[in-house]
Amino acid sequence: MKFQKEEAKLRERLVQLEERLDHVTKDMSKSHSPDFAEQATERENDEVLGGIGQEAQTSIQHIRAALARISAGTYGSCASCGKPINPERLDALPETVHCVSCAAA
Ligand SMILES: [Zn+2]
Repeated sequence: MKFQKEEAKLRERLVQLEERLDHVTKDMSKSHSPDFAEQATERENDEVLGGIGQEAQTSIQHIRAALARISAGTYGSCASCGKPINPERLDALPETVHCVSCAAA
């Protein structure tokens, strides 16, 4: 199968991200300290965690989309212009669905 290497990479990253997201969700749902000063710190912490969680979620979506494109046989060509994506770009950023010029646009 074509793009086997990319698929393996994507699956590996997907597992890592899902684990990270799981941790973040658990950390955020921990009960808050009754101490007011502590609460402020915890809230700040939640905001940071929320950012990480959102980032992870976005990456997960991109990876899932890339995996779907691998099974559909459309992986490796740009989702915007249909031109083949540079293999070096796919190697560095396997979840990308856009060629360099479309990503920059
Ligand atoms: Zn393109």
